[in-house]
Amino acid sequence: MNKSLANQKPKPRSTSKMLKREVVEELLEQRKLGVQRTQQLTENGNKVPTLKKLREQENELFKQLQEEMKKTEGLRQRIKAHEEAINNATSELRKKLETIDAENSCCICLLNWSARGHHRLVSLKCGHLFGKTCIRTYWRQSNRCPICRVVSYEDDIRQVHPYNCDSTTDE
Ligand SMILES: [Zn+2]
Ligand SMILES: [Zn+2]
Repeated sequence: MNKSLANQKPKPRSTSKMLKREVVEELLEQRKLGVQRTQQLTENGNKVPTLKKLREQENELFKQLQEEMKKTEGLRQRIKAHEEAINNATSELRKKLETIDAENSCCICLLNWSARGHHRLVSLKCGHLFGKTCIRTYWRQSNRCPICRVVSYEDDIRQVHPYNCDSTTDE
């Protein structure tokens, strides 16, 4: 009986002991989890101002980006204006050169006359200018000036010296 009691009694004791220990362990575990959660919440709580700060930085960066874009657009406009000015100046210059080229061209062959040689610059009585061989060839058809139709003769041909060079002996 005693034996059986002794055998029986420790069982519930041990069970209760075990239960107690389990409860304590569970409580401890719960507490541990509770502490962890509190820590997490605190960390999250600390993150809130960080997020706010990040948003502020984001807004600031966005403003800066807009400013930079404005500046870039301004520069782009200025470059465009410069390019237009350069293009205008270039076409103006080209026109002037074309005019100079036309003014220095023989109206018969449309080439520039030269300071010496067969296409040297000559004038007629009327004052119009030609390359020497061109006006002589033209005279085979008519001795009138191809521009103003005034009649000229061989003696009326004058050698013109547009450049500061001694090309007078050329024939
Ligand atoms: Zn000519
Ligand atoms: Zn003429």
